Amino acid sequence: MPRPILATIDISALRHNLRIAKARAPGARIWAVVKSNAYGHGLARAIRGFADADGLALIEPDYAMQLRELGWQKPILLLEGFFDMADLDIVTAARLEVTVHRVEQIAMLEAFLAMQTVTKVNIHLKMNSGMNRLGFTPDAFRAAHARLRALQGVGDITLMTHLANADDPLNARLPLQQQIATFERGIAGLAGDRSVANSAVDLMHPELRSDWVRPGVMLYGATPGGGSAKSFGLRPAMTLSSQIIGIQHIAAGEAVGYGSRFISATPMIVGVVACGYADGYPRHAPTGTPVIVDGVRTETVGRVSMDMFSVDLTNVPGAQVGSQVLLWGDGLSVDEVAHAAGTIGYELLCAVAARVPFVEA
Ligand SMILES: *Cc1c(COP(=O)(O)O)cnc(C)c1O
Repeated sequence: MPRPILATIDISALRHNLRIAKARAPGARIWAVVKSNAYGHGLARAIRGFADADGLALIEPDYAMQLRELGWQKPILLLEGFFDMADLDIVTAARLEVTVHRVEQIAMLEAFLAMQTVTKVNIHLKMNSGMNRLGFTPDAFRAAHARLRALQGVGDITLMTHLANADDPLNARLPLQQQIATFERGIAGLAGDRSVANSAVDLMHPELRSDWVRPGVMLYGATPGGGSAKSFGLRPAMTLSSQIIGIQHIAAGEAVGYGSRFISATPMIVGVVACGYADGYPRHAPTGTPVIVDGVRTETVGRVSMDMFSVDLTNVPGAQVGSQVLLWGDGLSVDEVAHAAGTIGYELLCAVAARVPFVEA
């Protein structure tokens, strides 16, 4: 018998969440973001779940190639663009659209396009509108645009930026409206579609005009913050489950797990779950992180170890070896587990380890 841990992917949930993303951004076209192996869900499953998206966007050139090999015909966008000249062969071979965010990429494009005349590469020119991660400053943006526009081999140029605080619009250091105003100032008078929206914009700021939206985490049934996935009508696409593989009856005052960090206040029944940090469950999840056993909500006790952690079964009637354990997914949101562990649902979804078997619902 295989170890009982399992990640179950619900393709119909991916489809459903894409419909919600579309409904919230009427008239906009959708890049379904599938970076990091579709936030841990698998590229082949993403292709099926997001068949109705206008394109797929990701970071990794080699995974972009895989999307073509798997049969995806519609546009593909590299969100960090290309990293060196060699990537441009992949860009043309796989017909990829590319983000351009620094001047060296323009120089590479000039050199590459001068050597051939067949391709038209669509560009997503990225502005740093205040997040200070990738992109041209508003002042440098116009010159970059002109330099690209002058190239024969450049097709459409989309005007792109990324927002630091769409889930926290009144952020004191960088309010959402300030970033939008900076972007508007930088693109004033330039022709081209706009691409500004991640999940947080799609879910919470439909008023911001974006010809292209780039939702990621919401498509998998989690949120960037600012409301539960359920409240937006999203359905979790990944359910991580396992089983109880051992039970201990302990007296008051006994310790559980490495470092003996948890001490029972009363006699307890403690179950051992076949799931640990080597499966992607966060090691920093403290005692009290929510877990569901046989449909009953309970919590972790003690430290998470590599292959196991413990749960309180004292109030889970009938729990035994073989009882079903829900780590996150349908019935317990990954955002809630992540919050208890001091992180975000994104990290947990992306971190499910290669040793966990995946099946489809
Ligand atoms: C990851 C990413 C997105 C999607 O972000 P979510 O918060 O997951 O919706 C959108 N745009 C860019 C440039 C990204 O890197």
